[in-house]
Amino acid sequence: MSPIDLIDSHAHLDMEEFDPDREAVLRRAAEAGIGAVLCPIEASSRRSLDVTLGLPSGRPAIYAAAGLHPHQAKLLSPAILSVVDKLASEKKICAIGEIGLDFHYDYAAPEEQKAAFREQLALARSVHLPAIVHSREAGPDILRAVQEEGFTNGGILHCFTEDWDLAAAMLDAGFFISFSGIITFPKSQALRDIVVKVPADRLLVETDAPYLAPVPHRGRRNEPAYVVETASCAARLKGLDLPRFAETVVRNFHALFPERV
Ligand SMILES: [Zn+2]
Ligand SMILES: [Zn+2]
Repeated sequence: MSPIDLIDSHAHLDMEEFDPDREAVLRRAAEAGIGAVLCPIEASSRRSLDVTLGLPSGRPAIYAAAGLHPHQAKLLSPAILSVVDKLASEKKICAIGEIGLDFHYDYAAPEEQKAAFREQLALARSVHLPAIVHSREAGPDILRAVQEEGFTNGGILHCFTEDWDLAAAMLDAGFFISFSGIITFPKSQALRDIVVKVPADRLLVETDAPYLAPVPHRGRRNEPAYVVETASCAARLKGLDLPRFAETVVRNFHALFPERV
């Protein structure tokens, strides 16, 4: 048994990259000390929903979020919103997400993305759940939407890659900041400086599997067990040993989802 107890706050275990060995992936996660994994369900995909809700939840425990990803924003419809709304009452669903804005890719027009993000923030508010927010090259618009929607349920700003101004403003808005394997990449010094500045009681780590495997697994398919490398890097930056840092992460995760985790 691993001496640590850690949480991967974002992994796409529904994706087909995991079709051959999903159970082995979960077993390796447990062996590496991962006690829980939060999996976002893509609300526009029946398959994502079935696979995620069908994952065996033991150790690691599986928690889920439901939402329309910004890449899928053009699929926003009353039917999709009602899928998300229905899922929100399932015990396993602890947040609405992932939702947000991605102006790096252009799978959906910015206006479509903004509309989908705002509609889902409003939905999260109405069902009293936090939000899992994806922001890529979109900081000012993310903040504007959160503020103008009066969204105060907080949540996770996941796979953080933006600047300190956005981190600080989202911390003020009640969000936790989750860092991925990107913080282990040699060129990520600016991001590591932000890890140092985010208060320890507002910090989470994630894989964003199957993407973004941390060093020394970089270039391979990522999986929840590898979040240990990201946590080790973050622990060093915070001046904590890994078990102490992992304890902090677990405490933060429980503080964020007091009712469902
Ligand atoms: Zn994302
Ligand atoms: Zn994601």
